[in-house]
Amino acid sequence: MSDLYARHRKVLPDWLALYYADPLEITHGEGRHVWDAEGNRYLDFFGGILTTMTAHALPEVTKAVSEQAGRIIHTSTLYLNRPMVELAERIAQLSGIPDARVFFTTSGTEANDTALLLATTYRRSNTVLAMRNSYHGRSFSAVGITGNRGWSPTSLSPLQTLYVHGGVRTRGPYASLGDDEFIAACVDDLEDLLGHTRPPAALIAEPIQGVGGFTSPPDGLYAAFRQVLKERGILWIADEVQTGWGRTGDHFWGWQAHAQNGPPDMLTFAKGIGNGMSIGGVVARAEIMNCLDANSISTFGGTQITMAAGLANIAYLLEHDLQGNARRVGGLLIERLRAVAAQVPGVREVRGRGLMIGVELVRPGTHEADPQAASAVLEAARADGLLLGKGGGHNTSALRIAPPLTLTVAEAEEGAAILERALRGIQ
Ligand code: PMP
Repeated sequence: MSDLYARHRKVLPDWLALYYADPLEITHGEGRHVWDAEGNRYLDFFGGILTTMTAHALPEVTKAVSEQAGRIIHTSTLYLNRPMVELAERIAQLSGIPDARVFFTTSGTEANDTALLLATTYRRSNTVLAMRNSYHGRSFSAVGITGNRGWSPTSLSPLQTLYVHGGVRTRGPYASLGDDEFIAACVDDLEDLLGHTRPPAALIAEPIQGVGGFTSPPDGLYAAFRQVLKERGILWIADEVQTGWGRTGDHFWGWQAHAQNGPPDMLTFAKGIGNGMSIGGVVARAEIMNCLDANSISTFGGTQITMAAGLANIAYLLEHDLQGNARRVGGLLIERLRAVAAQVPGVREVRGRGLMIGVELVRPGTHEADPQAASAVLEAARADGLLLGKGGGHNTSALRIAPPLTLTVAEAEEGAAILERALRGIQ
């Protein structure tokens, strides 16, 4: 055990999840690569979803942040803040939500917490619909809507949460259904739940579940839910913390794959938008955003340094068409990994969109999740210079691939070759 790991174990909580038997200390990064304390270099196939949406140490963001840090201003939302207004305008216009207002937070958890405050106040209901297998953050309210029990450490939430089906169909009776039948079964399940409860405030859902293992709901699933919700005045909150900003390739937001019945009433964002600086937030229709009848304030939400990072990052993302890059390079990577999957019996499925790709591992010849195999592949890939993520339901049997959006074709091929070796090695 390294000295730092020993100190970590002594002073930090036991429940703080750490990857790898010998946990990694990353000291710096550049582009799509990071280096550990021993000087080993890794191709980063996971950091894109954690914080580094675009690239490690992206010069444009570094410059914007250091310039702003050089003229740091003591501030909070009590004063006018030009970069905050500019980033809010940008995000409102990109959001697809009509008459959009934006509120900035410092994390995805706080963004979802705010969305819940708005939805429950607007609808005067503390009943909330969430998805089985979902992850929405770590605060008292966010764990109360997190269906993935591995990440929801208390059942004492004041919210009345009902869990809807539809995120996952890797196993069980839903696995054999085609898209239309699956959607119909999930809508039926939703209607059944609504028959048993007081009118809920909202349904909160990740368009593709992140921590849940990069699930692949069929296009139109949430549109079908939306129809049912609309008829009853129930709000739809899209948690875009992992799926936003073009990562899914075909769309800028995850909800756009489900848009037939209109945009969500609110969306939440966080993680990579600051390319390492902590920005989260909520976009909501004005009438919902403005439903609170007492003042609010945020000391760190929307600080100039983080807003400067967000503005520089979005400008880079749009100028370099990183959504298009996610579609092209992600498409190649999915194709390449599907070819490997066809030859490796323990790979049940390669799913995904753009640069958000899940690889589901099972005990060969069964549909049984294989979390040991997922851990073994993670370790083997690390030893070979590639960082991956893991996710899934009650046991984490999916590998998660979410590189920075600037990933090149050569890097995609290099990563796929390492992953292929790791997958073949565990069979
Ligand atoms: N929503 C989703 C979909 C997430 O994946 C996460 C983080 N894993 C969160 C919310 C919480 O974000 P944060 O860790 O910034 O609080």
